[in-house]
Amino acid sequence: MTEKTQTTESASTTPKPAATTASRPSSGAASRPRSTKPRFKRYERRRKVCRLCVEKVDAVDYKNIQMLKSFTMDSGKILSRRITGTCAKHQRQIRQAIMRNRNLSSLPYTNK
Ligand SMILES: [Zn+2]
Repeated sequence: MTEKTQTTESASTTPKPAATTASRPSSGAASRPRSTKPRFKRYERRRKVCRLCVEKVDAVDYKNIQMLKSFTMDSGKILSRRITGTCAKHQRQIRQAIMRNRNLSSLPYTNK
């Protein structure tokens, strides 16, 4: 809100910006090199959504090994929520289902 008024004031006080840049001494510009490159690479990150919430799964079936395998790494580790985007509720259920399957030896503890 306050910025808006400042920008309008500065625009009115500086009628010719080209003249101000020309009058600036070259020594000052050399000491402070201005890079045209953007400091932070901005990119649109897609918001991760819980796959199971989208499919409207209320309870994770431990017998669905194919689905559970998609939540594990090749090494057998359970993929983190950060990677898969699973919600806390479903991640807990996936973890429990994977642990159950590991105990039943239908899923590996480790793939060595
Ligand atoms: Zn979910």
